[in-house]
Amino acid sequence: MTITTGAPPGLLESTDTDRALREAVGGIARSFGPDYFQQQVDAGGNAQELWDALGGHGFLGVHLPEEYGGGGQGLRELAIVTEETAMAGVPALSILFSAGVIGTVLDRSANHEQKRRWLPDLASGAKRMSFAITEPDAGSNAHRIATVATRDGDRYVLNGQKYYITGMESADMVMVVARTGTDPESGRGRLSVFMVDADAPGLTRTQIRTVMNQPEKSWQVYFDNVEVPAANLVGEEGHGLRVAFTGLNTERVLTSSICTGIGRYALAKAVRYANERSVWGTPIGSHQGVAHPLAAAHIHLQAAVHETERACWTYDSGAEVGEQANIAKYLGASAGLEALDAAIGIHGGNGVSMEYQLANYFFIVRMLNMGPVSKEMILNFVAERSLGLPRSY
Ligand SMILES: Cc1cc2nc3c(=O)[nH]c(=O)nc-3n(C[C@H](O)[C@H](O)[C@H](O)COP(=O)(O)OP(=O)(O)OC[C@H]3O[C@@H](n4cnc5c(N)ncnc54)[C@H](O)[C@@H]3O)c2cc1C
Repeated sequence: MTITTGAPPGLLESTDTDRALREAVGGIARSFGPDYFQQQVDAGGNAQELWDALGGHGFLGVHLPEEYGGGGQGLRELAIVTEETAMAGVPALSILFSAGVIGTVLDRSANHEQKRRWLPDLASGAKRMSFAITEPDAGSNAHRIATVATRDGDRYVLNGQKYYITGMESADMVMVVARTGTDPESGRGRLSVFMVDADAPGLTRTQIRTVMNQPEKSWQVYFDNVEVPAANLVGEEGHGLRVAFTGLNTERVLTSSICTGIGRYALAKAVRYANERSVWGTPIGSHQGVAHPLAAAHIHLQAAVHETERACWTYDSGAEVGEQANIAKYLGASAGLEALDAAIGIHGGNGVSMEYQLANYFFIVRMLNMGPVSKEMILNFVAERSLGLPRSY
């Protein structure tokens, strides 16, 4: 069966290089596997060994320019890395924001000196970075961001708070989107993007307890007169949303890949179980009530992977990727959840046992159907931008 190893022919493995990359990443990821993943979660670890192995082989910076320590490839290759790790039962959320969002934002918008300072460590995995845009009163609506950065000579002073910031326990730096002004007509924030040291004086954090079964933890982050050198402003002041969105679109595409990866991991397990498990004298997979949900999940995963590839191609060609990134995210998150849910279901009671290593991934995929952008906000985008329907909010 093609779904158990590698991507379907023609999808994200249409060249020898794609296949070689899949084999290399998959080999490393499988050498860790679901047992390692769960041990890390249970012990409160941050999967450092996996991170080091991926970074050491150049996979975390595969999409970044060679000049700055990257592999000189594109988003397509980072999507392969993301999907393969998830397919091996070691989904690495940190890839989405550290390599994905921040790597891309720096690559597209930082100046040479900034790239020289931050990209090599990001590419090698020597440093991890978190991304902070969400606030208690500004989730889906980034225009309402209240965290403020005030210019004071050759520095900015940051005040405010962010929440649900992932991975701060391992972060050396955090990329922060803050308000540097307000549009007098619309009242919307004029936003800017800053690189902030995670241990800067005045930056504190408290952990948010969640049901997320993953090594990366969620944090509320507070900025109390945090001083940031003006040299850490990324891109043009006041145009932060445009700067951030190169990375946020990338994150949407990679969110699809991590979800299709988990979906394909779950589907492979489900197919195996449906062929082996027999309660009426025949394998349960011979009952259409069992087989059809798995077949439907397979179809939807294929479609999602295809649209994700299209999004990668669009991004790598330098074209506007907003619509395609949203479509890929919508389909990938949905197909991943459908496949995982079907796999849990056909395992009967075993579906919720830790031993069968399925349900422990549930909240990752469930959350990724809501964030980093929700289905409703994607449908808003498509309704307005793609179809030309009026804005409702
Ligand atoms: C585990 C986890 C990790 C996260 N990691 C990060 C991170 O690392 N960095 C970061 O910055 N953020 C992070 N987030 C935040 C995440 O991106 C937000 O939760 C998400 O953007 C939604 O914002 P919100 O929670 O404020 O929901 P809200 O904006 O309050 O929305 C609530 C619900 O209302 C719906 N809704 C809102 N407005 C509309 C509308 N106009 N039309 C239709 N429906 C609407 C939404 O779709 C959603 O279903 C994380 C969240 C979680 C749970």
